[in-house]
Amino acid sequence: MTINPNPTASHFVNGTYIDDTDGQPIEVIYPSTEACIATINAATSEVIERALVSAAAAQAEWAQWSGTERGRVLRRAAEIMRERNHELSVLETFDTGKPYQETSVADATSGADALEYFGGIAATLTGEHIQLADGNWAYTRREPLGVCAGIGAWNYPTQIACWKAAPALACGNSMIFKPSQTTPLCALKVAEILCEAGLPRGVFNVIQGHGDVGEALILDPRVDKVSLTGSVPTGSKVYAAAAASLKHVTMELGGKSPLIIFGDADIENAVSGAIMGNFYSSGQVCSNGTRVFVERKIKDIFLKRLQERLTSVVVGDPQDPLTNYGPLVSGQQLAIVQDFVRKGIDEGARLVAGGSRCQREGFFMQPTVFADVTDDMTIAREEIFGPVMSVLDFETEEEVLERANRTEFGLAAGVFTRDLARAHRIIAQIEAGTCFINSYNDAPVEVPFGGMKLSGVGRENARAAIEHYSQLKSVFVRMGDLPSPF
Ligand code: NAD
Repeated sequence: MTINPNPTASHFVNGTYIDDTDGQPIEVIYPSTEACIATINAATSEVIERALVSAAAAQAEWAQWSGTERGRVLRRAAEIMRERNHELSVLETFDTGKPYQETSVADATSGADALEYFGGIAATLTGEHIQLADGNWAYTRREPLGVCAGIGAWNYPTQIACWKAAPALACGNSMIFKPSQTTPLCALKVAEILCEAGLPRGVFNVIQGHGDVGEALILDPRVDKVSLTGSVPTGSKVYAAAAASLKHVTMELGGKSPLIIFGDADIENAVSGAIMGNFYSSGQVCSNGTRVFVERKIKDIFLKRLQERLTSVVVGDPQDPLTNYGPLVSGQQLAIVQDFVRKGIDEGARLVAGGSRCQREGFFMQPTVFADVTDDMTIAREEIFGPVMSVLDFETEEEVLERANRTEFGLAAGVFTRDLARAHRIIAQIEAGTCFINSYNDAPVEVPFGGMKLSGVGRENARAAIEHYSQLKSVFVRMGDLPSPF
């Protein structure tokens, strides 16, 4: 079956596809061929208004459904996503350029997990009963926030839409989701599937556009909550705009995470961790462990095995299931990564693998490894968001811990060692929200995901996400007469 990436229309509002050709055209470029595969229009103020009106009206009705009923819709949507995994994975590959080998196991599947998980717990979201003195008591009601705005990054368009929609909808909210202008296709399919699963019109809407469309949502008084996945500079702007009307926020932002490999680690697993944490999705993963601290005594063997393992990279057409390494998402992202590589070389890091654009069409960049990187180099301090690994040497546990924490980011961290007491000791002192021991970049829906410091506010996934999509109302109940001074 040939899958046409061209969407039915640009936006999905109030249960149907709509368009407004007055909106600024946005070309969707397939990163593997650099060809334009679809053209959509950014949302005009009329489209934004329609989405806001629909989301507000639908939310009032949706919140009246029981948790069991809401959960049933989400779980049905999860089933449909799994049934259509192939089609959705091909589309995700068109949208992002990530290889089908990845998208077929990591995107619609992860989205379906979120819908299933939050569909499963929707019926268990309750308040509590609190006994007080003199027979009085109180209870709490867990209530939705209202209309949520979801704003996505371009690296995981299906997953991000589902990670935000699933807990929001489970709690009785509605959502207007604005995908990244770079990858606008997948979220439309999520909306279509939710509707097919029985979601009332207007509960989940998708509108397209650049940052100004996101900003219009954040500034609107009908929006109660903003959940952003994006870079730290965008996060600061969005947080500030939301603060003007004290909206609830979830911020999933960037990182420069440390991956610490001790001399006693299983070398093959440590190399696997460094590969997974730097080259999966061509390095375009927020939680990547891009500062790889390797204990000096195993540095040579680590680098040798890493270089050998990199010979198994299969660069090619991302839709070919044998390809395991795809292009970067855009020409702009490729230029950013190339600029960082130049800075690495200029500042004295030793290039031991890659470093160049691949000799073929598409935005392909070789997996790149720098050794002898020092903490002050630009490539060790700033988020690159591409396939560039920095290997730094260390001698002692105390030293590496201090250096690992010396960053404004705090999204993730990993430790490889056979000494589990040391692993837990290190992780307890690491300033990062999502940590791994002898593994890297696992993100099961049952586990909270998010960052500390500049990397974020709030958590996605797990029960923790419920706290960020609902609010408590406390109700005091007096059983006897009310004493009063007058
Ligand atoms: P970006 O910050 O450029 O854009 C993110 C989204 O914000 C886009 O939809 C964009 O249109 C929108 N936006 C931009 N300016 C806005 C404004 N003023 N108001 C409202 N919306 C606005 O990020 P990107 O380049 O799409 O994605 C890459 C970044 O995302 C990286 O920094 C990466 O680390 C981060 N990221 C974080 C996570 C996480 O879960 N922590 C996951 C994926 C990506």
